[in-house]
Amino acid sequence: MRPSLSVLAFTTLGFTPLLPACRPADGAQEAAGDAEPWNWSEAEVRAAVDQVRAGRDLNPESWPGGARVAVLLSFDVDNETVQGLRTGDVSIGPLSQGEYGSRVALPRVLRLLDAESVPATFFFPAWSLKLAPQQADLIGAAGAHEIAVHGWIHELNTALDPVTEERLLRQAVDAVEEITGERPVGYRAPSWNFSPATLDIVRELGFLYESSLMADDRPYELLANGEPTGVVELPVEWILDDAPLFNPRGNSYSPPRDAMQVWMDEFDKAWEERTMFLLTMHPHIVGHRSRIVALEGLISYMKAKGEVWFATHADAARYVRKQAGMD
Ligand SMILES: [Zn+2]
Repeated sequence: MRPSLSVLAFTTLGFTPLLPACRPADGAQEAAGDAEPWNWSEAEVRAAVDQVRAGRDLNPESWPGGARVAVLLSFDVDNETVQGLRTGDVSIGPLSQGEYGSRVALPRVLRLLDAESVPATFFFPAWSLKLAPQQADLIGAAGAHEIAVHGWIHELNTALDPVTEERLLRQAVDAVEEITGERPVGYRAPSWNFSPATLDIVRELGFLYESSLMADDRPYELLANGEPTGVVELPVEWILDDAPLFNPRGNSYSPPRDAMQVWMDEFDKAWEERTMFLLTMHPHIVGHRSRIVALEGLISYMKAKGEVWFATHADAARYVRKQAGMD
């Protein structure tokens, strides 16, 4: 029990400890004591909402090569970190499911991407890469993909004080750089879990882009308390994620070919609207035999439709920054 942490987080960030927004997502009760939300003042509601908000639209007039749509494929390479390591609730069976990610699934995903010449971005919790550093060589072999950061051990940011959150992210960036030889420029919060301190830390560490929030289908600039931050958001969505749909024990299970149809529909609208299609997957989930066919089918469908720019997240972020005159 660390009941004072969110209060610390808020005082560190200059908020008053009684702000309603300091209530962590995971149900900790430390913010209680402030009024029930239906009694919040206008200022309290606005302060809660304005911590991080969507700013200007960064969708360009057109994508490189005159493409109608940018396709950004993300792989969150969670492996063992989400199979017990992140909570410390370690059990050998689930860990072996994580190990499948680096042993079998990632090579299978890369065989597909490299055969199709489709670049992708691989977000790593540092420990996932430290446990199987050969993954960096496999990803790097084609010279087309990006490696970015997804926390230290898939920690939950809202459960941490800001000092610890920043320390873990700095450690993670250093560890990824040490293994890959390149400093990562992209950040995705583990579980897309954003604490009140996360954006400040992302800015402090100088990331080119962030990819954990959901205020649009198009790239946008993040605002912090109403002020532009210069940070590009490449937004995600649970609809566009393999994890909930492919969990056979989950509440929302879909057969992979059904999920592929949802992704195709999302892609078609992005193509029509001339925007962006960003799909989040996990090698240890999508890299099974019956599921990789959904990704194979999707890539074939997108290629057949044409006028598509397949890009890493970093290349897309650089492009939209340039188009918007942010550099
Ligand atoms: Zn993850």
